Amino acid sequence: MNIPIARPFLGREEEEAAVAAIRSGWVSQGPKVKEFEETFAKYVGARYAVATTSCTTALHAALAVSGVGPGDEVVVPSLSFIATANAVVHAGAKPVFADIDPDTCNVTVETIAKVVTPRTKVVMPVHQMGFPVDLDPIIDFCKKKKLALIEDAACAIGSEYKGKSIGGYGNLACFSFHPRKVITTGEGGMITTDDSAIAEKLRRFRHHGMSVSDIERHTSKEVVIETYPEIGYNYRMTDIQAAIGLIQLAKLSRIIRRRREIAAFYDNALSRSPHIKVPVVPEYAYHNYQSYWVEVLGSSPVSRDVLMQKLLDKGIATRRGIMAIHLERFYYYVGCVLPATEAITRSTVLIPIYPAMKEDETAYVIRSIKEILQ
Ligand SMILES: *Cc1c(COP(=O)(O)O)cnc(C)c1O
Repeated sequence: MNIPIARPFLGREEEEAAVAAIRSGWVSQGPKVKEFEETFAKYVGARYAVATTSCTTALHAALAVSGVGPGDEVVVPSLSFIATANAVVHAGAKPVFADIDPDTCNVTVETIAKVVTPRTKVVMPVHQMGFPVDLDPIIDFCKKKKLALIEDAACAIGSEYKGKSIGGYGNLACFSFHPRKVITTGEGGMITTDDSAIAEKLRRFRHHGMSVSDIERHTSKEVVIETYPEIGYNYRMTDIQAAIGLIQLAKLSRIIRRRREIAAFYDNALSRSPHIKVPVVPEYAYHNYQSYWVEVLGSSPVSRDVLMQKLLDKGIATRRGIMAIHLERFYYYVGCVLPATEAITRSTVLIPIYPAMKEDETAYVIRSIKEILQ
């Protein structure tokens, strides 16, 4: 057996859509991006969606249009992919790290409140591995404290909080289409919002700060002389990517259904092991299982790293649990101690989960873990 940690779910339809975009003669940001944005917004229940080159650039854009800059602080989890904090630095601000609840691996309103200062401008929780944060208390807290809220929803496409999709809560929410996430366009990102003025600002920001889009200028019956009223970046998605994204989006419910079946299989088999803790999903959450993690408990006969090596020896790829950003050299200057984050990053491991995974492969992973932990 040779089981990867993840595998994108791409097929003939995506190939054909990419070819059609190439043949159309319009390959940069154009009509397909617009269609992808509209379809995406509808899917998550947001008024507007703005496509970007990645979730990292989406986060940068969201922070910038929220007025974040030098001297400001943004509260983020440390237990996240490094891009979460990097985007804050890209925007010129300082990330401040909140600890997590070890049961959900997510920040909570309590851990956020502990690190808010008068310099805090934005709170940026992460729906880690697609597991929705407990959003309502955080929304209330931000309203009371007059803080902007940006959701790092890189992994959370199709996840739901209290029956509503992530991205549908009216806050700025940023998604990723990297192949490691639930649906992919190669690279790519999306920002959702219900605010038309913010959506317009985002469109300019990702397009060199230009007053008019390429497609508007192309289809205009009158000559358009564009202006550049503010600084912008080139964060534009291509129509080739958007064409692929539209097909992926149409498959999303099916992809999540399959991921949840595999997760249920893991839950059922691994929750009985005394040396392992499996994720417990609260009532409020519908989890897309972008990743499946287990915590290796102190009672285990082998350490987390030995478990990973022994699984690799059996042909099963794993990854360490989510990194802790504050333990990386560049972020030493933030200077914080986060006990739950530090424990979880050392004791968790991600195991294979992807839609094309076969039942005998899932069974082999379970059998192998049980053997090693015996
Ligand atoms: C993957 C990821 C990102 C970065 O997404 P890209 O599209 O690769 O830029 C940001 N935040 C989190 C939580 C992620 O998992």
